[in-house]
Amino acid sequence: MSDPKKHMKTKFIFVTGGVVSSLGKGLASASIGALLESRGLTITVQKLDPYINVDPGTMSPFQHGEVYVTDDGAETDLDLGHYERFTNARLTKKNNFTTGQVYDSIITKERRGDYLGCTVQVVPHVTDEIKSKVLSISNGVDIAIIEIGGTVGDIESLPFLEAIRQLRYDLGKENVMYVHLTLLPYIATAHEIKTKPTQHSVNKLREIGIQPDILLCRSDRPVNADLKNKIALFCNVDRDAVISAEDVKSIYEVPLVFHREGLDEKIIKLLNIWTRAPKLDQWEEIARKINNPRHEITIGIVGKYVNLQDSYKSLHEALIHGGLANSSRVNLQYIDSEEIEKRGTALLKNIDGLLIPGGFGGRGVEGKISAIRYARENKMPFFGICLGMQVAIIELARDLCGLKHANSAEFDPETPDPVVDIMETQRGINSKGGTMRLGAYPCVLKKGSKAQSAYGTAEITERHRHRYEVNNRYREPLEKVGVEFSGLSPDEALVEIMEYRHHPWFVACQFHPEFKSRPLAPHPLFRGFVKAVLAHRAQAAKGSKAGKKTAARGAKKSGKTLSVNETDKA
Ligand code: GLN
Repeated sequence: MSDPKKHMKTKFIFVTGGVVSSLGKGLASASIGALLESRGLTITVQKLDPYINVDPGTMSPFQHGEVYVTDDGAETDLDLGHYERFTNARLTKKNNFTTGQVYDSIITKERRGDYLGCTVQVVPHVTDEIKSKVLSISNGVDIAIIEIGGTVGDIESLPFLEAIRQLRYDLGKENVMYVHLTLLPYIATAHEIKTKPTQHSVNKLREIGIQPDILLCRSDRPVNADLKNKIALFCNVDRDAVISAEDVKSIYEVPLVFHREGLDEKIIKLLNIWTRAPKLDQWEEIARKINNPRHEITIGIVGKYVNLQDSYKSLHEALIHGGLANSSRVNLQYIDSEEIEKRGTALLKNIDGLLIPGGFGGRGVEGKISAIRYARENKMPFFGICLGMQVAIIELARDLCGLKHANSAEFDPETPDPVVDIMETQRGINSKGGTMRLGAYPCVLKKGSKAQSAYGTAEITERHRHRYEVNNRYREPLEKVGVEFSGLSPDEALVEIMEYRHHPWFVACQFHPEFKSRPLAPHPLFRGFVKAVLAHRAQAAKGSKAGKKTAARGAKKSGKTLSVNETDKA
């Protein structure tokens, strides 16, 4: 292992979780990052995942939620999305690693003979490998925040905890601190918030030699001073290190709540650093906007993973950001595409805009095609992302180019018209992941297109994660019926964005714009989409007012009044 003292400039904050999973360690780590940046410090954030998969790329979204893609094409845990949304840190392959990766490097070294006859063991070899991966991200930043996946007490995360225990010993007390996120459940029959699970969880950490410095206590109600004192005494932490992390309406309020509780102040004291006063006005502005929207819209997301909304985490956030840019609350209605196949597009009647997200496999594709046709014919704003764009191409080819059996080779390898197909160069590669276009690629925008006016620039880069592309053989017939390929790769070989001209806002892209949207910098396509949806809604409201007037006139004549629903139908 390299000499840990080399990394002395950087200080490390390790974030662990106790009692139960899903308490929001990722958000807590990201919020700590945001607070430290607001004081002028530079930071990076890393996630350590205890599972044995080498990366989450091969895991089902049903099990693992979204796979977040970085610029350099790493397929990572969705918590990295929180880190990038909350901070200026730009993350790479190094910012997420798993037990699988640790063992992968160790076994490669062992086979190569690097261990010179040693017995290879969890301590020190596995822990050394973990430590060097942690130290490798410091790279001159002031603070590295490292989130340990899993819950304290799990067998799997023990080597990680042992490694971070050793790092305090290696780097010195002033350079390493431990933050523990825990749950304070409210027991209704006792009318009391209970601290016992937290005491046990801290005990578990102490058993392995880690004494947490700060406790972030999640609860559904405020934690009063008496309770804080009790927790401090029983868990052996300072009184001002017990931070109440009460539930909030929006995740973007978390940095502000932590700040009010004195978290950033305590961190810099414990790490013995001097910083400027925090500047949090931008976060306050976001909280204000979220709590006081001027408009409200509902966007329908038609997909396959609708029961596990973590699968669309970044998308969800990007739509919220698009709303922030337009002073609008954005309600999301997830609709199962197979339900549309069974029950028809009536399921879409309460939405103001349609979004078809990314996905893999043919299940539910026909439902998505019907939904896109509905949006196209009703001039409802449509935004397609990755698979969403591929399905839009199929819909237009079938309905407007007369190619009745047009399909993607992914769903029907025998289709006579593979309007979406695998690239020639990728045929015959069998290892899953080997054929994926992953990470950032440049794209040149057509002047005068909706995409170009949304971005306001001529060239962009966006992140990809897919195998199939628009088949160039079909570009011409599609252009003839009104499709504009408004974003292409610089060599024009790959379609990156398409629009349908005869429609107020029908835009789809091959990449995943949601990965680059931030609350402080909403993504141009999401901003543009929400703006179009607001315009569509205003138009529809006008139409229905006019409709109501006509209906009322008719009703007067016939002597009966109509209910709102009946007016809608009329
Ligand atoms: N399944 C499609 C492909 O592999 C789309 C992937 C996606 O939406 N991320 O090209």
